[in-house]
Amino acid sequence: MAKQFIYPFTFGDKSKSDLLGGKGANLAEMVQMGLPVPPGFTITTDACREYLTTGIVPAQLHDQIHVSLANLEKIVGKNFGDASNPLLVSVRSGAKHSMPGMMETVLNVGITPEVADAMAKSSGNEKFAWDSYRRFIDMFGRIVCDLPDEMVHKIEGEYLKKANVKVVAELSASALKELAQDLIKAIEQFTNKPFPKKPIDHLTQSIEAVFKSWNSERAQLYRRRERIPSDLGTAVNIQSMVFGNLSDDSGTGVAFTRNPATGETGSYGDYLDRAQGEDVVAGIRNTMSLADMSKKEPVVHAELERLMKTLEDHYRDLCDIEFTVERGKLWILQTRVGKRTAEAAFRIATQLVDEGKISMDEALMRTSGDQLAQLMFPQFDLSANQNLIATGIAASPGAAVGEIVFNSKRAFDLAKTGRKVILVRRETSPDDLVGMVAAEGILTSRGGKTSHAAVVARGMGKTAVCGTESISVDEKLLQFTVGDLIVREGEVVSIDGTTGCVYLGELPVTQSPVTSYLEGTLLASAKDATPVVKAVDRILQHADEIRKLYVRANADTPEDAQRAKTLGAQGIGLCRTEHMFLGERRNYVERVVLAENESEQNAVIAEMQPLQQADFVGILKAMSGYPVTVRLLDPPLHEFLPDLATLSAEMATAEALNSTITPRDKAIFAAVKRLHESNPMLGLRGVRLGILIPELFKMQVRALVLASLEVQKAGFDPKPELMIPLVATQRELLYLRETLEEEIKKTLNGAQLEMPIGTMIETPRAAITATRLADYADFFSFGTNDLTQLTWAFSRDDVESTFLPRYLDLELLPFNPFESLDQDGVGLLVKIARDQARAYRKDFKLGVCGEHGGDPRSIHFFHNLNLDYVSCSPFRVPVARLESGRAKVIKS
Ligand code: PEP
Ligand code: MG
Repeated sequence: MAKQFIYPFTFGDKSKSDLLGGKGANLAEMVQMGLPVPPGFTITTDACREYLTTGIVPAQLHDQIHVSLANLEKIVGKNFGDASNPLLVSVRSGAKHSMPGMMETVLNVGITPEVADAMAKSSGNEKFAWDSYRRFIDMFGRIVCDLPDEMVHKIEGEYLKKANVKVVAELSASALKELAQDLIKAIEQFTNKPFPKKPIDHLTQSIEAVFKSWNSERAQLYRRRERIPSDLGTAVNIQSMVFGNLSDDSGTGVAFTRNPATGETGSYGDYLDRAQGEDVVAGIRNTMSLADMSKKEPVVHAELERLMKTLEDHYRDLCDIEFTVERGKLWILQTRVGKRTAEAAFRIATQLVDEGKISMDEALMRTSGDQLAQLMFPQFDLSANQNLIATGIAASPGAAVGEIVFNSKRAFDLAKTGRKVILVRRETSPDDLVGMVAAEGILTSRGGKTSHAAVVARGMGKTAVCGTESISVDEKLLQFTVGDLIVREGEVVSIDGTTGCVYLGELPVTQSPVTSYLEGTLLASAKDATPVVKAVDRILQHADEIRKLYVRANADTPEDAQRAKTLGAQGIGLCRTEHMFLGERRNYVERVVLAENESEQNAVIAEMQPLQQADFVGILKAMSGYPVTVRLLDPPLHEFLPDLATLSAEMATAEALNSTITPRDKAIFAAVKRLHESNPMLGLRGVRLGILIPELFKMQVRALVLASLEVQKAGFDPKPELMIPLVATQRELLYLRETLEEEIKKTLNGAQLEMPIGTMIETPRAAITATRLADYADFFSFGTNDLTQLTWAFSRDDVESTFLPRYLDLELLPFNPFESLDQDGVGLLVKIARDQARAYRKDFKLGVCGEHGGDPRSIHFFHNLNLDYVSCSPFRVPVARLESGRAKVIKS
């Protein structure tokens, strides 16, 4: 039996987005709800996938299109391609995950010169008919025939000049007709083929072009950024046309049921009369607000508000709606759960809880750690001197500073060299994606909150100010003007996506209120706490109540420990002691290395002990009552010494110039040469160092024991834990454990102190032989940075600047495995070790202290593995708290 590739909108519901795409599934849902949706049918993602694999439109699809068209003709009582009673359709992409503006849409398919003539007669509006025809040829030319935009603009420009008007909509009916004919000629020349005449060919070719647009460059880039799998394919929706460009009481618009930028209640949107399709989001003409629309079209507006409420109540979430008004009749063309800023996400979630629409668990699911991190970004310090030059629409919040550039390629090139840029455009198009990704922020002179720039920027969490009408952008001269002021490429501006303000020069930034709240300097109950602070407080508290994972921090100074605790850390999962031997203290390590015999070496090490002890005292006090895991010295000793290449050059110069080389310099040079390793990451580090120079580790242990006793005496409650890095075999662990235990006992000298000794799991061997390590470890902490490095044979210090970006571009890797855990590979090793440890002892304590401990996706994985805690940098602690809570409520 032939596979069914097409379903009418009367089939399915919003749960069918795998098959019907998001748009198709929501259209079906709205039909079920009885909303006024122009009838149509959806071609499934299956069909697209088959096309993408074979490169040809599946044969059965052609037959099914004919049958579905015939059914549609019956339903609407019009005939496709029939001049006397024409059915026109739109062909719209619609993938499972919304990818705004990234794929293609062709409108008015089915129109021919004969049909346009007939439409002119039946509507009594010639201009409408030829504008519809011109729009079809324009879209078909660009999207199906790949006619370059510049060619279209050039031809259009000639007509505008001749008629002395600014926009195409102002051309006369006959000019529009001629323009369409000229576009056809250009298409024929460009493709070297006659322009297809039959509407059915227009339809199938448009469908194929939409399939193809799944793999357009911008769609691929968007998917990579949003981590949308590249093999899903898009569905295609064929919908009977309604015309917003038919008359004065026609138009098209986009509306949100709440403000998607701030989360404020009340509907929000843009409307454009006498317009069709993308006009409203393209920023071509300035739109009117829904409030203005209510004055112009009170009845339709009231109906729109009613339907918006119905939709929001039904979806129990912010809805983003596209609608068209045709001669005073409202049609809903699409709806989806709307993209929103981080602020709006938190505020809307708690509003919906208060309105009794969702539970706190659902509110938690609807926010994310990434959004919380965005809210922690600094904001502009408005007490500083400022030079406000313009105000636009606050389209996507944040504070961005950078030099201005006027095209996306330039933005990309400069950002690649580390420069911070603000992309300034009259309006952005989907082709600007690469520049938008590279820029700190986006500034446009046209378009509203629903324009492409605004929607995409919000989705990416990027600062944007749109519709700044007072600036006039000249993309050729590479400058913009505001009144008499000319601002040229390279000059610095600061843009505030929360207020819409544009400042000349660099404005300093200050802490965000959410950070003040998280750091305890602003109470959620305070009068001046903003609504977003209150919302974050409620949702984070809920996450804390329900989460199973404990969240610790990676911190190695008392200040960091204190900060982490304020941010909600329940202990320190990784105190990297090597950080205590940098700076001025390097000198001690140098002396350890240069010591001529063991007793001299031990004497230097003994000098280090009080310094180390003082560090521990501060940290243990800050974390009183919570565990502090101290990781014994890990990196190779040469990291504390001068660099071999630099030193060699200095020595060679000194010799050449015959200047004196001190014996100490000579000794250091010799030591650096002696300690030099070809692969230091695989060399003398971690546990191996402890075995070669046991006194170093013993000193650290003495310092920790003595610090703990001192802190205890001062009335605090220290909970120190010792952790051994880079272990690969049981014997290493046993050897060192015995040495350390003896030292602990000696130092305690009868005093009482619990000090568990655990090991990191950082080598694949440790992970797969965890049973044996479990014999001698009180806990395991997965060092997923090294575990990733050693599993992949990827040098963690090098790959990001060498081949990894290429791998990501080519999609050889879906993401950077140092940022987000490779669950199939490294994750499997974690799972194996977990199984072995928990088989050994049911409650064997397991944590994670690699960078992945602060990554949302990885946190969900660790939660599902039933680990005990994650540890991450202090700044990520609130993110990890939220995500641990989300992991609990999101069923994986
Ligand atoms: C790790 O390897 O994951 C780890 C936490 O140790 P470091 O990053 O210090 O090597
Ligand atoms: Mg490590």
